[in-house]
Amino acid sequence: CGIVAAVSTQNIVPILVQGLQRLEYRGYDSCGVAVYADGLKRARSTSRVAELQAQVAAEKIEGGTGIAHTRWATHGAPAVHNAHPHFSHGTGDVAQKPGKVALVHNGIIENHEELRASLQAKGYVFDSQTDTEVIVHLMDSLYDGDLFEALKAAVAQLHGAYAIAAFCKDEPHRVVGARAGSPLILGVGKGHSENFLASDAMALAGVTDQIVYLEEGDLVDLQLGKYWVIDRSHKAVQREVKTVQAHS
Ligand code: GLU
Repeated sequence: CGIVAAVSTQNIVPILVQGLQRLEYRGYDSCGVAVYADGLKRARSTSRVAELQAQVAAEKIEGGTGIAHTRWATHGAPAVHNAHPHFSHGTGDVAQKPGKVALVHNGIIENHEELRASLQAKGYVFDSQTDTEVIVHLMDSLYDGDLFEALKAAVAQLHGAYAIAAFCKDEPHRVVGARAGSPLILGVGKGHSENFLASDAMALAGVTDQIVYLEEGDLVDLQLGKYWVIDRSHKAVQREVKTVQAHS
């Protein structure tokens, strides 16, 4: 039910976890965080964000690029294997092809059954019962060295409501996002070349007050110290950066 994501030159996990805490009021049944650290690493929990925080500390999960999520289950029971972030692991032998794309999603993908069937036919193995997992394998199947292009091609096949944030181990300093029917804002960082995505500006209180309110159908590409927004027809757009009042 909430998303926080970032690219930064500093360890971003404390800000991601704090962001999830600020989104706890929305309600959730599980939570998770994934970072790039020589590959994809994640922690997931069906308990509180505080428990996730302890897990992250114990497992020393740290990285400059990351995505975090609080889930309100719509498809698949509240369980660790259904909690986001979800990873793609390519076709074939899972053990030989560890995670490539990491993704979090709020909303519902209406055509998840058709997409799952066609991805399974290509050899993708599903680890969860969520509608969300089709997006991460779809992006993996469309990936050809440019995650933003994979996102553009993937959302063209999605029916339903989504806010999405994703990153890829092959382009570790990049987070991409999409918004259609679920809220997503962009936060322009003040230092460390940081840029953020979040469900709501409050998740970034005390981190940045420079907020871009994305519009329906927008797609965003975050990199260190720069970002791009394109609209639903894939035209580059300049969305106004607003200064929001801190609520903390
Ligand atoms: N439909 C997705 C799921 O059940 C996302 C739910 C949410 O918005 O948190 O995993």
